[in-house]
Amino acid sequence: MNARPEGSPTLRSVLRIVRGTATSDGAGVRLMRLIGTESLPELDPFLLLDQFGSDSAADYIAGFPEHPHRGFETVTYMLEGRMRHRDNQGNEGLLVSGSVQWMTAGRGIVHSEMPEQEAGRMSGFQLWVNLPAARKMTAPRYQDIAPEQIPSITPAPGVKVRVIAGQVAETSGPVQGIATAPLFLDIALNASTHFELQLPAGHTAFVAVFEGNLSIAATQLDAGELGVLGPGSTLKLESANGGRAIVAAAQPLGEPVARYGPFVMNTRAEIIQAIEDFNGGRF
Ligand code: MN
Repeated sequence: MNARPEGSPTLRSVLRIVRGTATSDGAGVRLMRLIGTESLPELDPFLLLDQFGSDSAADYIAGFPEHPHRGFETVTYMLEGRMRHRDNQGNEGLLVSGSVQWMTAGRGIVHSEMPEQEAGRMSGFQLWVNLPAARKMTAPRYQDIAPEQIPSITPAPGVKVRVIAGQVAETSGPVQGIATAPLFLDIALNASTHFELQLPAGHTAFVAVFEGNLSIAATQLDAGELGVLGPGSTLKLESANGGRAIVAAAQPLGEPVARYGPFVMNTRAEIIQAIEDFNGGRF
């Protein structure tokens, strides 16, 4: 028996809370890793989530000099600061505060991501999203989205949502054509507000709080914490004191993952091929 009326929403709960692990990457950028750690190696199709944020240039100035990627997508969401992106195929762009870059690395790129500031605050997120086996060797593609291209809506009183990818009510985000049909939102709630959001029932989803705190089905998440969500069709966010978070959801792939640094494929043989192709200058 199921006492729940047919078609009524099922609320997502927080299955587990993950706190970031302090680490450094690139040439020595200090960051907090939320996905891609020993305690949460992956959250299919999400492979990695880094949160960076510092007022001290020493924490970010070294940047991410030239490095390759193959087999997945990197999403850089800049909250504050300026980062210059350049790759080996002549693409170049400047990520400014509030912008996003959704890069489909596909069969391979070699790029650098370097701060274009010598002082002041730099903060944001980088998320890695896996590609299905059939699209791992696709041509690289960039979606560089300026801040003013990202719709900002007020779906409930005191609630602001920047829709980067996916759909909220009638509003669609500018990032389009991604294999895992992702939702990627920046949601801010004022104190004593709440908001209900539809999430595709089969999608993996998480909430990463970066200001204040939020509650989901009576579980409180504080800034710096990521909540892995359970199944369901509806996410109800509440905030007593105000809070802001990334809400992300995407279709899980259910495929084998073979990863080695910036290469994420399905088999060990494909990883060896990626290393050979990179060393042979074939990216
Ligand atoms: Mn990179």
